[in-house]
Amino acid sequence: MNFGVVDLHSNGIHLELAGRKVAQVKIPSDYVPHTFAPILGTHLLVSGDQLANGMVVVLEDVTQRANPNDISPENERRKEGFVPSEYDRRRVEETARWALVTDVKTKHNRPDSRIVKFTAIYSDGTMRDRTYNVDYKWAVLTEVEMMPVCTCGVVHTEENPEVPADLFDRGVSFLETFVNDFLGSVLQDIEDDLKDETSEGSATS
Ligand SMILES: [Zn+2]
Repeated sequence: MNFGVVDLHSNGIHLELAGRKVAQVKIPSDYVPHTFAPILGTHLLVSGDQLANGMVVVLEDVTQRANPNDISPENERRKEGFVPSEYDRRRVEETARWALVTDVKTKHNRPDSRIVKFTAIYSDGTMRDRTYNVDYKWAVLTEVEMMPVCTCGVVHTEENPEVPADLFDRGVSFLETFVNDFLGSVLQDIEDDLKDETSEGSATS
């Protein structure tokens, strides 16, 4: 799989996870095939009201995802004169690529129904405003590489280390801890939400 590294820091986008500012996020850049199905261990499956900033997601429901084959030059229908429209291209780029969730919020669109809105950031740095009913499920990558902004305001890399001695090992372990902390906190939030819903449900029944 190919990845793009989105630099949030230099673009002035603020994403704070587990109390730390995130600088760079590695997002898969390949199109998601129409046959995609989430895999236990590699993906989480959450509903729209469980989406959280920092998650890298794609819609689970295949009917809500465009087929990347629609815009492929090898598409069989091309022989019959089919030319994908700008709309087809846009829909594939929007729905058939992994997206970083930012600025997520849920609200009622009708008294009995709620929607989730977020700004999706893709591997090439493009952004889309996306809105869905909260009932749609999303596949979430359980492992995402992210670089934090140091308390000194710098994104430390191999070339620009925090500590001159044994720098790279330190950087790697810091990154791993950060990713684990973040995923741990997201999973805990989901668990807490589910518990809340269960207790609310039993209180009202
Ligand atoms: Zn620093």
